Amino acid sequence: MNSELVERLRRLAEVKLDEPLSRHVTFGVGGPADVYLIANTEDQLRLGYSLARKAGEPVFIYGSGSNVLVGDGGVRGVTVENRTAQVEGPSSNGAGFKARVASGVSLAALARRMSSAGYSGIEWACGIPGSLGGAVVSNAGAYDRSLKDVLKGSRLSDDDGNVIALSPEDLELDYRKSAFTRGTIHDKVVLSVDLRLERGDSKTLRERLREFDEQRRTAQPPGRNCGSVFKNPPDNPSWWYIEQAGLRGHTIGKAQFSERHANFILNLGGARAADIVALMELAQTRVHEEFGVTLEPEVALVGEFS
Ligand SMILES: Cc1cc2nc3c(=O)[nH]c(=O)nc-3n(C[C@H](O)[C@H](O)[C@H](O)COP(=O)(O)OP(=O)(O)OC[C@H]3O[C@@H](n4cnc5c(N)ncnc54)[C@H](O)[C@@H]3O)c2cc1C
Repeated sequence: MNSELVERLRRLAEVKLDEPLSRHVTFGVGGPADVYLIANTEDQLRLGYSLARKAGEPVFIYGSGSNVLVGDGGVRGVTVENRTAQVEGPSSNGAGFKARVASGVSLAALARRMSSAGYSGIEWACGIPGSLGGAVVSNAGAYDRSLKDVLKGSRLSDDDGNVIALSPEDLELDYRKSAFTRGTIHDKVVLSVDLRLERGDSKTLRERLREFDEQRRTAQPPGRNCGSVFKNPPDNPSWWYIEQAGLRGHTIGKAQFSERHANFILNLGGARAADIVALMELAQTRVHEEFGVTLEPEVALVGEFS
């Protein structure tokens, strides 16, 4: 790693070297990040990204690590943890209420805060871990709603640190897809998103949150995981295919397809990324052989796996 770059990053924000990513991601697996920068402000996020890119280093933007599988070999270049936290609004704009939210803000925490304050629109997100930036990349959603339904705009930055405003159409949001996952947008960082909210009744909204919490408690297994491993194919949910392929509860090393929800892989303690990849490949092979269906990963694979 370029020591001059490390010095420049240190002048900008807190930097750690060889930081184990298993400490950070929800799966609890993965090797070290060569350089790990903690961005608490939008300028640190924007400039940290730009400095690293101009020095020719690959950059991994880390929101909350709830949708990534980091390879056992770790991540080369610069990993930027996004801890930006600013929330502006909601303020009335005639048609409803607009909030501008930093990409490092927790989607679930925002959903709870807005619901308690009597703003509706994102209550369905109260149980989705992760940052707003990560939610844009996968168009996070639940209960037939997704970020696409409430996103009115976003601000991104590029390699040169320029700020670019994008419309919802530019982001190409669809079921667990965006212009990022399609590759239409690359080498950009989401800085903030604009959300459209409505006035709601906080008592009714709190009741909705309780219902959503209860649904998750019964449907999802506790423990270290990344949520759904595969996207749902059109005809049946992925868990159904995995179960039909005889893989519910199947274990490789210390990784297991959950007994409670077969589209979740659990790290039973000390799992390696290689165990998880082996389970994913086994499910893809068996489901394709038996049903001709291709299971497409929802989780993003990051770093070195061999
Ligand atoms: C228990 C559990 C339940 C879950 N339930 C759901 C659910 O119901 N619905 C759902 O949709 N998802 C669900 N997920 C998956 C996950 O919560 C979402 O995908 C979430 O939006 C990921 O956000 P993150 O900040 O953790 O992203 P990360 O995992 O940190 O990153 C994901 C990807 O986005 C990129 N990225 C992150 N931030 C930025 C940024 N600012 N700019 C550019 N790129 C960025 C990363 O580089 C990476 O490629 C669940 C996960 C868990 C662990």
